[in-house]
Amino acid sequence: MKEESYDVAIIGGGPAGLTAAIYLGRAKLNSIVLEKAVPGGNAAITDMIENYPGFPDGISGRELSERMRVQAEKFGTKFKILHEVISVDLKGDIKKIKTSNEEINASALIIATGTEWAKLNVPGEEKLTGKGVSYCATCDGPFFKDRTIAVIGGGDSAVDEANYLTRFGKKVIIIHRRDRLRAAKIIQDRAFANPKIDFRFSTIVTEIIGDEFVKALRLRNLNTEEEEILEVEGVFVFVGNYPSTSFLKGQIEMDEAGYIITNERMEASVKGVFACGDVRKKMLKQVVTACGEGATAAVAAQHYIEELKGEEYK
Ligand code: NAP
Repeated sequence: MKEESYDVAIIGGGPAGLTAAIYLGRAKLNSIVLEKAVPGGNAAITDMIENYPGFPDGISGRELSERMRVQAEKFGTKFKILHEVISVDLKGDIKKIKTSNEEINASALIIATGTEWAKLNVPGEEKLTGKGVSYCATCDGPFFKDRTIAVIGGGDSAVDEANYLTRFGKKVIIIHRRDRLRAAKIIQDRAFANPKIDFRFSTIVTEIIGDEFVKALRLRNLNTEEEEILEVEGVFVFVGNYPSTSFLKGQIEMDEAGYIITNERMEASVKGVFACGDVRKKMLKQVVTACGEGATAAVAAQHYIEELKGEEYK
């Protein structure tokens, strides 16, 4: 297997990893970003980001991600796209990272793997994924022109994406298990004012029905226990996220949900390992906080490398 060595390896090319890549490039460290899909992570599949400072009219997640990638490459950080990390060995001074093609050795490691979309875990979901069930509105929304679409969840993602999906669907029905939404007030107000959006509160999905393609949802009202069959052609699931940390199990301190615990320098429990962005245990998961943490992790990693190399940091 091919072996390569770097000062710093960054696993994950979302906003946290890309910002770390910009800072490490400017520090002239030999760094590599390993990204299993495309740069930008979940931000890249967000239609419009309205709360990233400096863009009063908003900016598409794809464009913001692409700009960050170009900026990181400009400063010399290398990228391996479509390279999924399978395992890591964090025991020694040299951190070993295995992808399906190569082994990467790095003096420091920044973990910025973010989160993955949670599943509903109801009958029909797995079978009909890609056949009407989706976890990405920007990727799949255009396939549902003039169709009836259900969006499951009540957080920022669900309500934001429901608003976006009204560009395509003739009706978008938000199905939420509680009696009120969790999303930010501005996002909620937009949804309540949208004539194409209907709501089913205190309602859960118990089955996604369809053979070749989604035909309906079996719903249960949690107040009345009444069951309803709701005919829909698309189902977009936004019921939260879980951290992408399965490849790290047993090697680093995490909370019970698998989020990495760090100090304010983004240092994880193993020397030379840093974590930033949504994969880290923290209060606020936003692009702007991910970027701030990416910068901190990069500078902390730079200090760590300089100490290793015996250079005094000024
Ligand atoms: P989230 O905030 O965790 O919301 C998940 C939603 O799914 C909640 O409403 C939750 O219900 C519901 N849910 C969870 N498990 C469920 C289940 N098994 N069945 C049915 N419903 C279930 O996740 P998110 O909306 O993806 O947001 C993740 C983070 O990204 C948040 O920090 C958010 O602020 C951020 N984000 C921000 C923006 C923005 O600023 N524009 C956009 C997207 C995401 P309960 O409410 O009952 O718990």
